[in-house]
Amino acid sequence: MIAGVLIQLSNRNIDRVFDYNIPDSLINKIKIGMRVVVPFARMHLEGFVLEIKDKSDIDDLKSIESIVDEDVLLNKEQLELGRLMQRDTLSTLISCYQVMLPKALKARLGSSISKKYDTFYKFGDVKLEKMNATQQKIIDIIKKNGEIKRSDALDISSSSLNTLLKRNVIVPFKREHYRVSYDDKLVTPHVLTNEQSSVVNDIVNCHDNNIFLIYGVTGSGKTEVYMELIDYYLKLGKTAIVLVPEISLTPQMVKRFGDRFGSRIAAIHSALSEGEKYDEYRRIYRGEVDIVIGARSAVFVPLKNLGIIIIDEEHSDSYKQDSQNPRYDTLAVAKHRSKYNNCKIVMGSATPSLETFARAQKGVYKLLCLPHRINGKSLPLVNIIDMNEELKYSKGHFSRLLLDKIKEKKELGQQVILLLNRRGYSSFVTCKNCGYTVKCPNCDITLTYHKTSNNLRCHYCGYATKYDKKCPSCGEVSMSDLGVGTQKIEEELLSLIPSIKVLRMDFDTTSRKGMHEKMIKSFKNHEYDVLLGTQIVAKGLDFSRVTLVGVMNADTSLNIPDFRSSENTFSLLSQVAGRSGRSKDAGEVIIQTFNSEHYAIKHASHHDYLGFYKEEMNIRRSLKYPPYYFLVYIRLSSKDNKLLFKEANRIKNTLNNRLSSTIVLGPTPCNIFKKNLKYRYSIVLKYKKEDKLYPLLKQIIDYYKSNKNIVIDLDFNPIHFD
Ligand code: ADP
Ligand code: ZN
Repeated sequence: MIAGVLIQLSNRNIDRVFDYNIPDSLINKIKIGMRVVVPFARMHLEGFVLEIKDKSDIDDLKSIESIVDEDVLLNKEQLELGRLMQRDTLSTLISCYQVMLPKALKARLGSSISKKYDTFYKFGDVKLEKMNATQQKIIDIIKKNGEIKRSDALDISSSSLNTLLKRNVIVPFKREHYRVSYDDKLVTPHVLTNEQSSVVNDIVNCHDNNIFLIYGVTGSGKTEVYMELIDYYLKLGKTAIVLVPEISLTPQMVKRFGDRFGSRIAAIHSALSEGEKYDEYRRIYRGEVDIVIGARSAVFVPLKNLGIIIIDEEHSDSYKQDSQNPRYDTLAVAKHRSKYNNCKIVMGSATPSLETFARAQKGVYKLLCLPHRINGKSLPLVNIIDMNEELKYSKGHFSRLLLDKIKEKKELGQQVILLLNRRGYSSFVTCKNCGYTVKCPNCDITLTYHKTSNNLRCHYCGYATKYDKKCPSCGEVSMSDLGVGTQKIEEELLSLIPSIKVLRMDFDTTSRKGMHEKMIKSFKNHEYDVLLGTQIVAKGLDFSRVTLVGVMNADTSLNIPDFRSSENTFSLLSQVAGRSGRSKDAGEVIIQTFNSEHYAIKHASHHDYLGFYKEEMNIRRSLKYPPYYFLVYIRLSSKDNKLLFKEANRIKNTLNNRLSSTIVLGPTPCNIFKKNLKYRYSIVLKYKKEDKLYPLLKQIIDYYKSNKNIVIDLDFNPIHFD
């Protein structure tokens, strides 16, 4: 017998099946989807068995050396999914399979992470006529449950246990002990409101569409709806995947699902140790769970007979893998799985991405709304503070109103969340005096500062202008790229209100395991007056005493050189505003900004998603951005700058000549022009419909695949442009 093996090396030149003999010793063991070790170019490499056949066209085949894991790692659905992802992303097939395997399993099964076991006892061959009371007690438990755990038997009597063991009345056996445990004492679910029930009914009774968007304000009970839907499909004997952004995948969130479904769930999140993750994945692989909760990569878990895939906070950029190949989109993967399993996809958000909402408006997805908060509370009142005005009174970062309100809340025994908006990179320059930022006249995105050439550039189209410290708007010599950190804001607040207790939370202070959890607890216990942090404080947290949310600087995310900067700012402001006034006391929000007239900020202050959507869609249409156009971001890199520039232009010309209805922008130096000793250029494509595009891009990739001096990365529907 012959096996076709895909080698685990992400190299386009060998991204195909190679034939190997299956030795007699392995003939009944090897199955499609298993990992094996094969000799390859004088090395021993791992690969996946993709086919098993009788004959090969090649004589003189080498043999498979060994099997890596006891189980099949890629099932039929996943093998097919990998091919579809390869087609969508033009990545190597092997990278599409590798991304499906959890890291915890990639560390060879059983080698670096050990399994844990518990000892149990069951009946042996011998029956005793006479027993004392404690022996009888142990026997009774085994009669009832079929087994007894060693620790439970020891609690009864260790000497009785030993006697029974010695006489072979009972015998030991081991069972794997999973490191994560779920409580099966389930909590009674809420009775759904009429609004919630009708959303659930619309979804389960819909037969002409499998994809849904629940557009519901923060606190409208979306999570409760998800759980009811899951319950419905579980009762039909099906399974469910719940996807959430990593940032909101907190233990509290997992607990809510655990309270409802107990040990039927497996949750995979960053607070788990490697051993815990390993155990959770093995429960999934063994078919011991029906619901998996996790971030992006959980979309691949091998649950059989899927009934529903939920994508919570659908707008989150974490649903796109964009730091490495394959640069896949979670929704696209979910759609493939939905076709295969004929299952539903339910997305939810208070601020849906424009792409998704536009498709829902057109009826491609079915739109369902939850317009009211559960407790009938209105959304908080939002104040916009024009920081240009405030500069007359202070050069600091706190407006007079924000400072007064913080003092007031402290006196009332209420709490405050302060958001320091520090998204992404800060290589754009803004005026420290008036907040002005220089934009590209062609693309309406912020220009980025390039140190080497000391100029400002648009990294979409290549437009460049000289960097001038003098602000073109207010005339002050104060253009700079300085950003402030949470520590500086904390110091400033302490100097203004010395008695205030500030808890600082950002990606640095929460990186240690369990730290995030601990901080949330201590803030909940009211050990602090103010929670100050970056984006991490904006999502999902539920503190009943918080009645004020202050946004220190709404502008940072507006100024990021990205056509989605308004959308991201609107969504961030809406999310953080949703943290205020969640229980009995009414909430307030203060947004500090140098752009108080900006439509993203204005609409966010009125909780007006639809108003924002309409205005933003007009801009997208006129500038030819998604959802009106599709984008492809082509990144080219090389150690040889001259060669790269020449080839980049050649590619651009090829694209221009061969494509009729695609706009080709660039090549332009990437935002990070030099990375790991490699120079980087990018080309951006905008198109509506272009049948020749994928075949042409594939040709270009193939043309360069054996050229070691040029690396091409493709990102379809890109989120980041760096
Ligand atoms: P969202 O996911 O839209 O932010 P949640 O599902 O978290 O909303 O609901 C907000 C709050 O309301 C939660 O504390 C939740 O337990 C509660 N809740 C949701 N649905 C109901 C209901 N039908 N009855 C009572 N409380 C509910
Ligand atoms: Zn431009």
